[in-house]
Amino acid sequence: MVLMEQIKDPEIPVVSIVDLGIVRNIEFEDNEPVVTITSTYNGCPAMDMISMQIIALLQSLGFKQPKIKMSLHPAWTTDWINDDAKKRLQEYGIAPPDKRFTIPADGVECPRCHSMSTRLISAFGSTACKALYQCNDCKEPFDFFKCH
Ligand SMILES: [Zn+2]
Repeated sequence: MVLMEQIKDPEIPVVSIVDLGIVRNIEFEDNEPVVTITSTYNGCPAMDMISMQIIALLQSLGFKQPKIKMSLHPAWTTDWINDDAKKRLQEYGIAPPDKRFTIPADGVECPRCHSMSTRLISAFGSTACKALYQCNDCKEPFDFFKCH
């Protein structure tokens, strides 16, 4: 676990993937490590980068076939961010839990007519990284990229 603290969040360098609660478990199968991670958002592209970093780190230690296991249940929550990391996030200028981790209920600007009168339809849009909104004025649905 201590080892994994070397790996920082690709978008927030002040916190590690352990701080964020992304690394859930490390076990060994046939002397090769199997790291269980959970995604802050299913299908988030940052998770691919985190997985690659974990594999690269373990390979640099001499393991030949480290594996990543994705855990989808229970779903990740901001409660898994430890208190110390929350403090560091704040110092970094992000109100914890930061807006990366929550979805604004209303008031996302419509990309078509620029109306601020919009509402959240679904927390999951065309990809898991996006939330689906609908504009109250032009009635068009649109995605809000929530990963960044
Ligand atoms: Zn609109």
